[in-house]
Amino acid sequence: MSHYDFDLFVMGVGSGGVRAARMSAHYGARVATAEDLYMGGTCVNVGCVPKKLFVYASHFTEEYEQAQGFGWQKSSPGFDWQVLRDNKDVEIDRLNGVYRGMLESAEVTHFDGRARIVDAHTISINERRVSTEKILIATGSWPFIPDFPGSEYAISSNEVFHLEEFPKRPVVVGGGYIAVEFAGIFKGLGAESHLLYRGPLFLRKFDDGIRSFVADELDKKGIHLHFNTNVTAIEKNANDTLKVITAEEGELEADLVMYATGRNPAIHDIGLETVKVDTRADGAIIVDDFFQTSEPSIFALGDVIGRVQLTPVAIAEAMAFAKTQFLNEPTTMDYDNVATAVFCQPNIGTVGLTEADARQKYDAIEIYQSSFRPMKHTLSGSDERTMMKIIVDKATDLVIGVHMVGPEAGEIIQGMSIAMKAGATKAILDSTIGIHPTTAEEFVTMRELSSN
Ligand code: NDP
Repeated sequence: MSHYDFDLFVMGVGSGGVRAARMSAHYGARVATAEDLYMGGTCVNVGCVPKKLFVYASHFTEEYEQAQGFGWQKSSPGFDWQVLRDNKDVEIDRLNGVYRGMLESAEVTHFDGRARIVDAHTISINERRVSTEKILIATGSWPFIPDFPGSEYAISSNEVFHLEEFPKRPVVVGGGYIAVEFAGIFKGLGAESHLLYRGPLFLRKFDDGIRSFVADELDKKGIHLHFNTNVTAIEKNANDTLKVITAEEGELEADLVMYATGRNPAIHDIGLETVKVDTRADGAIIVDDFFQTSEPSIFALGDVIGRVQLTPVAIAEAMAFAKTQFLNEPTTMDYDNVATAVFCQPNIGTVGLTEADARQKYDAIEIYQSSFRPMKHTLSGSDERTMMKIIVDKATDLVIGVHMVGPEAGEIIQGMSIAMKAGATKAILDSTIGIHPTTAEEFVTMRELSSN
């Protein structure tokens, strides 16, 4: 046993930190954790979990409308923001307790307070100092709002989950996951929702066909999409509403402006200056394949290393770290084919290469693509369409990308990602019997090459 108080001190109990602490303790390490904000980190408190609950809530407007086509009488339900927000808070409180309980049952020593690095083997939490053989920085990331006149009037995803009043005319700035998801949540809950993005088409890193399809669908739903639009200032009106001034479109009135312009690695005020930990220009901590920093006793993983800002990735990194350090099983991360979903409405689900990336990487590819009106909407009256796309390497027949826009795309693409991980070829998809009638069966029945 080492002469330090702990074998591992984990800074931050978000998705990555908690998993690293629990697994390391399970492998026999004496582990401590510290957190000064919330148990479970961004995902549980101001991210994936409350967002998904809001997405569920925002679907009901359409469901009520569409029910009439199936014989239900028209009703005019009212939406109560405070009920949704407070019920969500109760669930988040429960999850905070679950996370605390998980650390307790793993016999991890938890400190409530901000942990700061004092030296390569010492951490301070409030007035207390503890020694540790290894330090793991799992402090996550923090929303970034650019600095411009009136930027102080903008909120981020940290605040949106706790609003006193539901906005009537929100403006969301950004064109990534959070902006697109919240533009849909606001619209679904009854607001006049505006999304402002600086480029010609949002969701820049996604497949181009998916991006334009989603833009059409959101437009059909009545979300106001303003592309090629840059905010120059925000001003507060006399009645406390806001004026969003843009370089291209003049002024837009709003009662809420939410910035969703990315998240920066959370390295502020953690004592990083006391040690030799190298960072990138954007603040991300540089680590090797085993999450070791340039200071040999210090490790980092999750959003703070700026690789892939997704909860399941942080969890997988944490498991690789714990196995490497405390099970004597050197384990690296496989970042290929990480499936992901954007919970806009309809959802995007995606895994593997975009068509543009596939064309760059492979000599010849085949595209199978289909867009159609889902069966439900033959009676619902909705004009929402679904799109599905498979990208295949012509030489090997391997499926190298699968993309979808449609209800439950995330659920469907998770299964497709397993098939890809297992090395599925197009011939294997073709030999799979579909489940009828479903949307997902389209992935095993597409035979026509797309003419694109
Ligand atoms: P993203 O990185 O997804 O998108 C950031 C957006 O902001 C981009 O459209 C970017 O434009 C734009 N932007 C960046 N800087 C500026 C600026 N100075 N002025 C105007 N626009 C700017 O970040 P998000 O904040 O949406 O989400 C953070 C991360 O959280 C995501 O990357 C994702 O990994 C994770 N997340 C995952 C979710 C999921 O799995 N469903 C849900 C929510 C978040 P451009 O493209 O032109 O650079």
